[in-house]
Amino acid sequence: MKAGKSRSRPSKEKGRKSARERHVVRSEVMLMVFIEDHNMEELLSLKESIVTYLDRSGGLRQLVEACQSLKDSQQVYRFSFDVNPTDIVELDARLGDCILHDPLKATSLFQSVCFLSIKTLSLIEHIHTENQVNVVLRPTHMPPFPNYILDLCEFPRGYYLMRPVALEGLVIAVTCVTKYTQGARFICAEEKCPCSRGFHHIRVHAPGATEAATVRSDFICFLCSSPLKEDVKSRVLGDKQLVELVHTRALDVLGVHEPSSLRYQSVTLFLRDELCNTMKIGQLYQVVGIPAHVHQWSSITWTIEVCSIRNLIPECPSCVSDNFQALHAASACSPWRFSAIVANSFGSPVVPPGLYNTLKLVLLLSLVQTKEENSDAHNPLDVLALTSDTLNVERLMTYSLGLAARGIRHLVTGELFTSLSRDEHGAGTANIHAGSALLAAGGVCLLGDLTCYKKDRTDTLQSALDSRTASVFIPGKKYGEDADQLLSFPINCNFWALADALAPRKKANRPDSVLLGSMEMGPVPPQVVDAFGLVIQCRDPGGNHPLLPMTVHTLKQAISPGKPIYPACMQFTTQDYKELLAYARSLKVDMSTEAEKMIHGYYMASRRVRSSVSVTSIKLLIALAQAHAKLNLRTLVLEEDAVIAVLLCENSITLRHGEICTSEPFHKAN
Ligand SMILES: [Zn+2]
Repeated sequence: MKAGKSRSRPSKEKGRKSARERHVVRSEVMLMVFIEDHNMEELLSLKESIVTYLDRSGGLRQLVEACQSLKDSQQVYRFSFDVNPTDIVELDARLGDCILHDPLKATSLFQSVCFLSIKTLSLIEHIHTENQVNVVLRPTHMPPFPNYILDLCEFPRGYYLMRPVALEGLVIAVTCVTKYTQGARFICAEEKCPCSRGFHHIRVHAPGATEAATVRSDFICFLCSSPLKEDVKSRVLGDKQLVELVHTRALDVLGVHEPSSLRYQSVTLFLRDELCNTMKIGQLYQVVGIPAHVHQWSSITWTIEVCSIRNLIPECPSCVSDNFQALHAASACSPWRFSAIVANSFGSPVVPPGLYNTLKLVLLLSLVQTKEENSDAHNPLDVLALTSDTLNVERLMTYSLGLAARGIRHLVTGELFTSLSRDEHGAGTANIHAGSALLAAGGVCLLGDLTCYKKDRTDTLQSALDSRTASVFIPGKKYGEDADQLLSFPINCNFWALADALAPRKKANRPDSVLLGSMEMGPVPPQVVDAFGLVIQCRDPGGNHPLLPMTVHTLKQAISPGKPIYPACMQFTTQDYKELLAYARSLKVDMSTEAEKMIHGYYMASRRVRSSVSVTSIKLLIALAQAHAKLNLRTLVLEEDAVIAVLLCENSITLRHGEICTSEPFHKAN
């Protein structure tokens, strides 16, 4: 219009033109009104769908209950709703689209519905504006399509508009819980302005917003442009926690694989309010969250605001290979035969069949007896091998680690339990990083040669083995808290270690009185040895030629590299073992009364003759018997399984404390 006027035209022409222009304007306005009407209509129908959904999903009832439980009048009221995108799409496709692709719009629609419901049902007396309703939507899952799944390994991670995506990974670090501003009320400094009263300027936390985005001192009034000041009394605080998530493939690097140039970048998740403390270090999770670029100071960080969290239970194969099935059927005549044959040919790519059979059996039992996800009762099965052949025993252990549900190779230079750092996302609180033992949750942590560990490390290891928890002390002063904190994390893995039995014992470790018949433990302090459940001595059956079978094995491997040398390893491949162990792990076993009687009887008798037998050994006996039953693919623990447990336990105690009723020293070549 303005452009038309500014041009100089003949008057006759001008009159006609302006009439036409008026017509154009009128139709444009009509269109705008139509669109407006249409938009209003659409918004109204979306809101109707929200009411229907909330009614059906029980959200409306939740809202009523939440309002009833509110104690005093607040300035901002927060309500969170779990929303199931599938149900919503079925109810109203446009609303579903909105939840999946424009969560901010969805939130404001829900906000308006909540406010209307509160007003209509008179749920809260003193509520004035819609702004006072702070709604948090939590999509429970995402559609199973690539566009909704974020792979933590993919880089660059794409410029997602602010919309929820599903991701999964392993928690490697968590921070302490700190406070954030859920909502704040601002009032206009100009007294005549209507905004100096009431609830026109309410700011609530939005996904990806920093503290400075919610609360700041330079906001201005939208009516009069005067500065706004915060009504500090009205501020509502919530809890927040930061969690670092990394792709599960990072576990491969921490496990058996050689250290490589591969790097896995973790991503920081923000957990707020009721989600705090729901993610545990070392566990796998499926998360729905909204990626956000957070501008802070001069840098931009990429973080995810979490909406919902689910435990991720890795799938395990539930089949046993045909060869093992045939072996199982053929060895049904004896309750010990199957596990004995399985142990004998186990690890044949590393050590020849027949060598270190007891250790192999114990490693297999330990592999089977790992903690299941979400199960409270867990009897760990730690193994310490004493050997003069550390190289091959370590190789065998490393090979076996690859068959664990989760295997972490601890490096002497790394952190075994926890380490602390300062959080770099503005909270400044302590960030607790998982060490090898916490990362190995539900699996095995291979410690390697204990001879290489310093005394303070073996001391912490011993106390952690005894208590099965890792404690971390957080000095309050250093991390901006008023008080010091002592946190503890459960340790849910089996430890494997070895020690050179021939290495000279350090002077400090020499006990005052060496027990008769006890074996030389090498440089490892006896209390650390005691903390391990099972101690296995790896001896060569050859006696005089300790290295002969190993030498033959190495030569054979050198002649035909990469090929199976023994008939057994052609029959039972590493993959077969992997499947067998995964299947055995998944079995749920019950104790038979005979097995319980035998374990109890042995335990009582053992306590009578040895003062050093502790209560933990009954747990060890049960763990061994259960694992042996599982390895034989049985769901009932038989007396025969208990016999194996007693034998292994007795063997281990004898190594540590000497034989009962003999004053003869234990003969080494025996
Ligand atoms: Zn104002």
